[in-house]
Order: sequence, then structure tokens, then C-alpha cells
Amino acid sequence: MRNKSVVTESKQIQLAIELVNLGARLQVLEAETNLSRERLLNLYKEVKGVSPPKGMLPFSTDWFMSWQPNIHSSLFIDIYRYLGKNAGLSGIEAIVKAYRLYLEHVEVNNLESVLSLTRAWSLIRFLDAKMLTTVPCTECGGYFVVHAMDLHRGYVCGLCHVPSRAGKTRQAAAAAAVSAGAALKLPAPALIGSKLRVAAARVS
Ligand SMILES: [Zn+2]
Repeated sequence: MRNKSVVTESKQIQLAIELVNLGARLQVLEAETNLSRERLLNLYKEVKGVSPPKGMLPFSTDWFMSWQPNIHSSLFIDIYRYLGKNAGLSGIEAIVKAYRLYLEHVEVNNLESVLSLTRAWSLIRFLDAKMLTTVPCTECGGYFVVHAMDLHRGYVCGLCHVPSRAGKTRQAAAAAAVSAGAALKLPAPALIGSKLRVAAARVS
């Protein structure tokens, strides 16, 4: 029994370190491990060299609705669901693996990672709580994050209907989405990717 608890604790510490390295806020560590707040605080300081930011998580569901965050969030969900369906992953393990894949493609293409790990984690919680959901775009068929309580008949995504104020960031978002979709060979991101190429071509 004693051995088992040591192994369990060691796994919890490893997970906490991994989450801190990926930029998780303290609230995420508290929710996903059984370690005490004091231990997590010390661990955070040891890994990061600074104390964690104080206060509540500032994130509301509205953030996921703005143009670029919505595309990155929708892609993250696609990766997350793909891992759940094909690799049998769930919970924090699926979030961490999906987030690493998301980051990898953003970094390889030297682009800005719009979605932080804490936001990705919040996104899954909002989906689980049925505050957010995904619906297919009636034009491209890709699945996008939406407010669960809104009406979605005839939904058209932000790629098929690019807002004019999306500005120059849309090309970066487009490239990130294309690379993520292409590398993973998922139906939805691939579809989103092809749409983004069209959107990027219109811009240039
Ligand atoms: Zn669309």
C-alpha cells in the first residue's frame, strides 16, 4: 500500500510539473491533482522561479467567440476529440496531449499560440458544462465552438464569412490552422484548412 501511494504521488507531481511547464495557472493544478495548495505553490515556484499569478481565472465563454480564438479553439477541440476517439485518451491526459500537438504545429510554423493551456482546459470545462458546444458550418462542414444557448440554424463560421476587422492576424491564424489540419489529417481541420487557404488568398 505504501509503495502504491508513493507511485501515485510521484505521478501527481509529474503531472503538476508538466502542467506548470505548459503554462497552467494554479487553479488548473488544484483541480487536476490531489496535492495540497502549499505543495503546489512550492512546486510552481521551483519550476518557474516565480510565484503563480494571484486571483481568479479571468476567462469567460465570450473569449472563445472572438474571431482568431474561435478558430484556434475549434482546432484544439478537433485534436482533443480525435485523441479521445482514436487513442482512447480522456481528461487531463487528453488535454495535455492535444495541447502539445496544437503547440507543436503553431511553433513549427513560427506562429503565435493564441490558446493558452489554461484556456484550453477552461474550454473543455465549458463544453462539459454544456455552456459551449460545437456546430457544423453550413458552408464548409467544419465544427466550430459556439454558445450552447444560442440559435445555430444556418450557422456560418468565421472562415467562410471573415469579418473585415479580422485584419492581418487572419493570415497567421490561417497558416496555423492549415498546418494543424494537414499534419493531423483530420476531416474537420483539413476542411477548415482548405477554407483558410481560400481566405488567405483573398487577403493577399
Ligand atoms: Zn465554414
